[in-house]
Amino acid sequence: MVAKVLLLHTGGTLGMVGTPLVPDAYGSRLLDAVPELLQIADIDIDIVCNLDSSDLGPAEWGSLASTIAACHEAYDGFVIVHGTDTMAYTAAALSYALEGLGKPIVFTGAQRPLSALRTDARRNLVDAVEVATTSVPEVTICFDGLLFRGCRAVKEDARSYRAFASPGMPPLAKMGIDLDISALVRGPTRAFASHPVFDPYVDVVYLTPGIRSDTVVRRLLDPQLRGLVIAAFGVGTVPAQIRGIAEDLRVAVDGGLEVVVVTQRGGKVDLRAYKSSEGLAEAGCIPGGTMHLEAAVPKLMHALARFDDRAARHGYLLRNVAGELG
Ligand code: ASP
Repeated sequence: MVAKVLLLHTGGTLGMVGTPLVPDAYGSRLLDAVPELLQIADIDIDIVCNLDSSDLGPAEWGSLASTIAACHEAYDGFVIVHGTDTMAYTAAALSYALEGLGKPIVFTGAQRPLSALRTDARRNLVDAVEVATTSVPEVTICFDGLLFRGCRAVKEDARSYRAFASPGMPPLAKMGIDLDISALVRGPTRAFASHPVFDPYVDVVYLTPGIRSDTVVRRLLDPQLRGLVIAAFGVGTVPAQIRGIAEDLRVAVDGGLEVVVVTQRGGKVDLRAYKSSEGLAEAGCIPGGTMHLEAAVPKLMHALARFDDRAARHGYLLRNVAGELG
């Protein structure tokens, strides 16, 4: 039986035209441009939106998750065409919002528009649709012959066809002559359920040497702020200016703010490894483990929207929900 795949188009370079590039209404003509996709699966197309991915955020993550949940039974797999700039955030967001996933959700896009010479769009689309017909029941990013876990992926190069990587974790599959699927692929451990909710009141502080404590304290005083992600050095170290405001952080955390500490580079955050980060642990900041910003921001937004109970929220943030912690 031919697999049924729903292709959701959100925008990105793949469907753009012109100089500078702008979104084009090409989505509905996609199957005319790449008819070989129909040799792989029966494909329905839904144009969800047509945006540069810099304009996609928590609201769009929620509606994408709802759209997939609503027709989850009707398809064998899903392909999401998405701009590369924020693809890793959306992929991570969906991997939290869609629990107990039993079908592939495959993000793809392109570094050159489908209409351009030497475009990578054609290959990425063919690979993504093929993966959507297999038994890889995860939210993934398919790009340049590699398949990455969505909540471990980062965009690492804006000018290369090899745009994505998953630092600290091998790809889930390689698309060479054969489709070589790794044993790391996760399967569902609970029934499918969707929780398409994200609280947008989350900020990020990216630490740099010499950062002024004022810039952070000012954010802590924002009454709307519900979550803060601190992108720290190494395994979670912070400069003296930030150590000096540990008490302000503790007061903010006691007042209900959730603070998650991630590392700016690969590795795993350990707030007890160095004296210079102990203050954050004492203040009640949550170690983000192996999460990159791309995985941590949507996870914190999701946890805030989904759990009113603080202990449940903390348990969720520390739990390995979709393979983001490893
Ligand atoms: N600016 C584009 C986007 O993210 C880049 C891309 O699609 O590769 O929408």
